[in-house]
Amino acid sequence: MHTNLPLWDDGRSQPLPTLDGDTTADVCVVGLGGSGLSCIDELRAMGRSVVGIDAVGVAAGAAGRNGGLLLPGTADYHHDAVRLLGRARALRLHELTLEETRRIDAQAPGTVRYPGSIRLSASPDEDADCDAHFATMRADGLPVERYDGPFGHGLFFPGDAAFNPLARCRALAVSVQANGARLFGASPATHIARGSVVTPGGTVRCERVIVAVDGRLEVILPELRGTVRTARLQMLGTAPAPEVSIPCPMSYRYGFDYWQQTPEGCVALGGGRDIAMDESWSTAAEQTDVVQSHLERVLREQLGVRAAITHRWAASVSYTETGLPVFAEVRPGVWAIGGYSGTGNAVGALCGRGAARVACGERSELAELIRR
Ligand SMILES: Cc1cc2nc3c(=O)[nH]c(=O)nc-3n(C[C@H](O)[C@H](O)[C@H](O)COP(=O)(O)OP(=O)(O)OC[C@H]3O[C@@H](n4cnc5c(N)ncnc54)[C@H](O)[C@@H]3O)c2cc1C
Repeated sequence: MHTNLPLWDDGRSQPLPTLDGDTTADVCVVGLGGSGLSCIDELRAMGRSVVGIDAVGVAAGAAGRNGGLLLPGTADYHHDAVRLLGRARALRLHELTLEETRRIDAQAPGTVRYPGSIRLSASPDEDADCDAHFATMRADGLPVERYDGPFGHGLFFPGDAAFNPLARCRALAVSVQANGARLFGASPATHIARGSVVTPGGTVRCERVIVAVDGRLEVILPELRGTVRTARLQMLGTAPAPEVSIPCPMSYRYGFDYWQQTPEGCVALGGGRDIAMDESWSTAAEQTDVVQSHLERVLREQLGVRAAITHRWAASVSYTETGLPVFAEVRPGVWAIGGYSGTGNAVGALCGRGAARVACGERSELAELIRR
């Protein structure tokens, strides 16, 4: 059993050098998950010199330890997003996240697939919500079908993507380094201010700082306490499970549980946060018995998987009250992105690109769309 290692980890990590001495760059990006790496990619495309630092290494946080559902939009279902933002903004966000998914695919070839995804209903109340979800998507011309099959009933979203989140980040890290970005691991930012980011090994002197950290964002930037709140999410993974054939990623109980079967046949299953909601509000990132027992029940009783559980893990994300990400200049010259409320794969990368543009004085359509 691999304890607190994600199923995605094939042991082929790319150790980065530790920052050793002072250095300079136009921009310092703190956090090398999918959002920070996309930000760095955009900055390099804009011709800026970049240093990226991480407390641990590439995709050490949620970006390399998540469920691998690469869905369009933000944390809200489309009909909820329409209610929150209005139809035009919700639709445009949907479109931009789809474009970002195609970009992720192009940048990390072989890590993304498009099997569609299924939302399974668990109750009459959720049936009604699925009806509203279906009606709004149809009215907006978005692809959705009713699902009624061996896994239950709900909605099918043709064309939705899934990926190996860790492989994607590793591929992107290689690509941005080849493109001139300098990345450092084991280099936690201990002091962040306009013009400098301090780590134990040295200081990055820079014109702008972008903090691209989802979980524990309010620990790094205490001014965001009250705006974001860190939570622990958990998963487990199995050996290849030929006894089941799960055609695409699925979510259940309003997305509180979710799973996918990888091309190798392994099942990655996460969720159960609501089973112990109070204790999920934690900056700790170790798995707990109560949630792992719930995940195991879903795996065995609902999905009928008999294969051995080989991995159990947890990681931190952060939530916002509105479900919309944080995208703000929190200190003069210091921008922060994060708070994806459990769904940050596509929108996080998009925020990374947007933050690169805004920090360098350019316009970002995304920043305008998610303004509160
Ligand atoms: C179990 C789980 C399942 C999930 N499932 C899905 C899913 O299926 N689909 C989806 O869209 N989203 C999912 N999410 C959410 C998604 O993983 C995150 O929103 C997204 O990956 C955030 O990426 P990020 O790059 O913004 O931040 P993070 O992944 O949080 O990366 C931040 C990086 O910053 C580093 N760091 C932290 N502090 C410092 C510091 N002081 N100095 C330097 N570096 C620092 C960390 O080491 C880390 O590498 C899930 C999350 C979890 C935990």
